Amino acid sequence: MTDQRVPILVYHHVYPQDAPELTDVDATQGAGIIGRPELLRQMQYLVDHGWQVVTSTRIVDWLNGTTSLPRQAVVLHFDNGWLDTVTVALPVLRDLGMTATCFPITGAVEEASCGRGTTVRTLTEGTIRKPFMTWDGVQDLLDEGWEIGAHTHTHCKVAEQHADEGDDGVIQEVQESHALFEKHLGLVPAHFAYPSGSRNDRTDALLSSRYRSLRRWHVSFPIVWQVTDRATSPMALECQNIDVRVPFDAFREIFGE
Ligand SMILES: [Zn+2]
Repeated sequence: MTDQRVPILVYHHVYPQDAPELTDVDATQGAGIIGRPELLRQMQYLVDHGWQVVTSTRIVDWLNGTTSLPRQAVVLHFDNGWLDTVTVALPVLRDLGMTATCFPITGAVEEASCGRGTTVRTLTEGTIRKPFMTWDGVQDLLDEGWEIGAHTHTHCKVAEQHADEGDDGVIQEVQESHALFEKHLGLVPAHFAYPSGSRNDRTDALLSSRYRSLRRWHVSFPIVWQVTDRATSPMALECQNIDVRVPFDAFREIFGE
């Protein structure tokens, strides 16, 4: 099919239903947060309507023309390496036979593994300090068939990092994160997601020689869906950010209903 669209759904936090983080969210707040029941509802929708979760690698292979895809293929991403990805999201997906790609901030995972907290800056939540998974948690994801992607060492805005520190500043983020991935997991990620979607042509050029794909990210309200289809470059993957501000009817629109 030449007109096939592949939704790449991007999640951040998934909280249990009774979590205090979920009590005050509404259409103008709650970016990057979703409750477990809503995630479950969305995943059950995919199952009920014949959507098959495939890996990031499979999508990139498809875009490169080296593999086919199910007619209804969807990809799941979980950004940053929050602890709740392991404790809340992983069991939901496991029960449905689904896997995802997690893009951990390596500096934060390293600190968590040493029993320390980290403050990070995110576009969805501002400057915050919340629990991250440890390297054991990342390994658990791998053991369950998830893929691990790169998301920088410090969650820097890459375009800003380049403006401030030039090519070397961007390469350093890559190298620091890869050193930790290699040390703890024995692998170097093939896929990269831009923190906060911050990028430009020069950062694309720098990173495209180091990864098989670069994922963009936009957050807009009202929602504007970006589409990955056959014409999309693997170096410019588009995605849909999903959080509590996405009503279920809007979620269904992603899948053409
Ligand atoms: Zn991020």
